[in-house]
Amino acid sequence: MKRLFSNCSSNRLDEAAEGEVTISHSRRRFLAQTGAIAANAVWMPVFKLRPGSARTTCPAPPNFPPSIELYQQGYENWANEIRVDDLWTCAPRTPADVVTIANWAFSNGYRMRPRGYMHNWSPLTVTPGTTCQTKAVLVDMTRHLTAMQIVPGPSATVNVQTGVSMEALLGYLEQAGYGVTSSPAPGDLSVGGVLAIDGHGAAAPAQGETRLPGHTYGSLSSLIVSVRAVVWDQAKGQYTLRNFDRSDPNCKAFLTHAGRAFLTEVTLRVGENYNLRCVSYVDIPATELFAAPGAGASRAFANYLESAGRVEAILFPFTTCPWLKVWSVSPAKPLLSRKVTSPYNYPFSDSIPEEVAVLANRIVKGEDYLAPLLGLTAYNLTAAGLIASLSKDIWGRSKNLLLYIRPTTLRGTTNGYAILTRRGDIQRVVSEFVSFYQGRLADYQSQNRYPINLSLEIRVTGLDQPGDVGVDNAEPPALSAICPRPDHPEWDVAVWVNLLTLPGTPYSNQFYREIETWILQNYSGAYATVRPEWSKGWAYTSDAAWADNTMLSATIPNIYRAGTGPVWDWAVSMFDTFDPHSIFSNPFLDALFQ
Ligand SMILES: Cc1cc2nc3c(=O)[nH]c(=O)nc-3n(C[C@H](O)[C@H](O)[C@H](O)COP(=O)(O)OP(=O)(O)OC[C@H]3O[C@@H](n4cnc5c(N)ncnc54)[C@H](O)[C@@H]3O)c2cc1C
Repeated sequence: MKRLFSNCSSNRLDEAAEGEVTISHSRRRFLAQTGAIAANAVWMPVFKLRPGSARTTCPAPPNFPPSIELYQQGYENWANEIRVDDLWTCAPRTPADVVTIANWAFSNGYRMRPRGYMHNWSPLTVTPGTTCQTKAVLVDMTRHLTAMQIVPGPSATVNVQTGVSMEALLGYLEQAGYGVTSSPAPGDLSVGGVLAIDGHGAAAPAQGETRLPGHTYGSLSSLIVSVRAVVWDQAKGQYTLRNFDRSDPNCKAFLTHAGRAFLTEVTLRVGENYNLRCVSYVDIPATELFAAPGAGASRAFANYLESAGRVEAILFPFTTCPWLKVWSVSPAKPLLSRKVTSPYNYPFSDSIPEEVAVLANRIVKGEDYLAPLLGLTAYNLTAAGLIASLSKDIWGRSKNLLLYIRPTTLRGTTNGYAILTRRGDIQRVVSEFVSFYQGRLADYQSQNRYPINLSLEIRVTGLDQPGDVGVDNAEPPALSAICPRPDHPEWDVAVWVNLLTLPGTPYSNQFYREIETWILQNYSGAYATVRPEWSKGWAYTSDAAWADNTMLSATIPNIYRAGTGPVWDWAVSMFDTFDPHSIFSNPFLDALFQ
């Protein structure tokens, strides 16, 4: 197998493919192959089996409140790594219904797991091995708990029930003239799901830019003014609804809780809406974009961050030029930009083209050596797609630029880390990471091993600065990956890295473990620190993610303890105080928050 590396031009595909693989254009075969990938891409748990139906696969939870809809339905997380075909699921209509379910769960020895769009990777909702016999009920918040209400004014807020989707929220805000500085890229994520894991986008202040009132460069958890949570009331001996204002020190345990709490409603600070431009580049060599600091590269990653504040680099494996997106605040439409009036403006990455489906299926079936060709194909389709869809330079209302991933995109698994550092060290961080990653990838390739077949994605945000929300005595989210380090006030940004591959790719966990070991060791001391991204992959053994006991029981808690005092232990004690019966937990969270 010869080594494959692309240059930035698209004319290498045929050359690269020659002798390596013949893509079949047989219609029949294509349909069969894409069917498998596409089914995976758009799987939705549409069926419902109600208690008493002849087809239910196990007895319904006993004594379940009859006024609340209960049915069996499938649960599948994003990468299909956790799948339960027939979980008992309920759909509360009101926050009071959630309390009723909580008290039923307490009395009957059950647990309840809130769910949004099931787009998480880590086992925060249910764990592998869960069956319909497990004493856990899934609570689908997206069916009915979707109310929103703006409270306009100079310190505007929006009250949102946690089943609302991010797309619905941003659309609602837009109509009222409000927006956010950054948000996760997909629109089909629930507000409850996003806040559980300190959902973030890609924004730090550009040089000379000042934060607008009601906005943050941190995660969306930073914008929380108050939460309404279901908590144990010691005096009443039952679960009740309770509001926690941001000025209440206890509130900070609920701002990012990784699934260990249950929120029915939140109030978020919002600011005036604005327009964004996004320019894509596919012709900057990675050697230049990720050059070592001081190398004098004019098209260095940190330079784009300085000028615009909002960047995302996507590097397909075994290719040499990333897809770089640079968003900039732009009140008026630049002459060369195309105006967009709706989100998801990269259709080529939202549907799976034939070439990608064929290759992905072959890799999944064991031909992992096709990874370089898949990387090159993805790059070429991106370069061509940006031109064909006129999306190289787009402009519009913020929401239409901030949302750019649909659930029909290819489903990979990913690791995820936030590297907290000084703004002046961003180029060093990215250059060291890319250099280490590419070195390891080349090493594996020389042994005919291809652990990574999808992209490396790098973004930068600010931190969760408590002053942003505009509430007196506000404190940062205790367990946010981008909670500031009081002992390192100079660390003012986070570089987020995600390395994607198809689930089950041979050697991927071993590779991820090597990356994790290195990243923790390299980004340390006075230079930087690393925290795992709750929603994604971490705590790798050579066989599995979320499995390394030292990481789970010592490394992660210690990362949070460092420089912040006992914040980890305090947050765990708050979870226990407000849910002493652990009904808002699962075996993985029991182990993590012990
Ligand atoms: C393709 C893709 C792209 C992504 N891009 C980004 C990104 O750009 N930035 C980013 O930050 N994240 C990103 N994510 C991760 C995503 O934000 C999280 O996985 C998020 O938790 C998913 O929301 P969900 O509604 O699907 O939640 P689910 O997966 O259903 O649940 C996730 C967690 O939230 C908990 N939860 C849900 N509702 C509630 C509630 N009401 N109260 C308490 N806990 C609750 C669940 O119990 C679970 O622990 C991406 C995910 C995918 C699949």
